[in-house]
Amino acid sequence: MRRILAFLLGLWPVLTIASVHPVELHQRLALSGAPGENVVALTLDACDGAFDAGVVRFLVERRIPATVFATRKWLERNPEGTAILKRHADLFDIEDHGANHVPAVIGEGRRVYGISGNPDVEHLREEVSQGAEAIEEATGLKPRWYRGATALYDPQAIEDIEAMGYRIAGFSLNVDAGATLSKAEIVARIRMARNGDILIAHMNKPRSDTAEGLAEGLKELQAKGFRFVLLRDETVVSTGGRASRSLAV
Ligand SMILES: [Zn+2]
Repeated sequence: MRRILAFLLGLWPVLTIASVHPVELHQRLALSGAPGENVVALTLDACDGAFDAGVVRFLVERRIPATVFATRKWLERNPEGTAILKRHADLFDIEDHGANHVPAVIGEGRRVYGISGNPDVEHLREEVSQGAEAIEEATGLKPRWYRGATALYDPQAIEDIEAMGYRIAGFSLNVDAGATLSKAEIVARIRMARNGDILIAHMNKPRSDTAEGLAEGLKELQAKGFRFVLLRDETVVSTGGRASRSLAV
């Protein structure tokens, strides 16, 4: 019996670690608009890679605002794109997506979608604060929102990021699945948008179908009378989360 107990106690740390699965946070806008009015928020991640000028050109033409989550890496690699976003500061609010696009999971060897997380809490805090510093340097404005790479979070990471004073930005409608979907699939997903939805898409993969899909899908929403808002101007409420067991170790 004692041996069995010792064995189980020995296993305990492993079981505890294995039970921590990162969570995808789901949120919506808490709207107090006129009845029948449809309001949604578009969020765009600029993870690393390039600048999808097609996405931004369309949004400027149609006067559609978007909350952009940019990494330090992306800002440094894309000065031209950064300048265009800044030139349209009324439309684009740049928020924190971390310094190096490291997912908000904590622990040696932990990964999400094959991307390594933070070995410890200190690294997580650096990822968040150095991303924020880069945005402040580029725009003169301190970010208030944080979205981690891959949009998955350990519960401990959520606590730490919030303790640093940031709101964590979830979403309710994943429009382009990391800029991997076809134009038709993106349009189909955007057609599912309802009042209060927070849409997530990407603006760092110009070779993807995202720009074309967004253009067609968002044009349809505008034609239906949908209004677009920035996260910073709205009250955002949590609608739960989904543990992503298969995507992370
Ligand atoms: Zn990202």
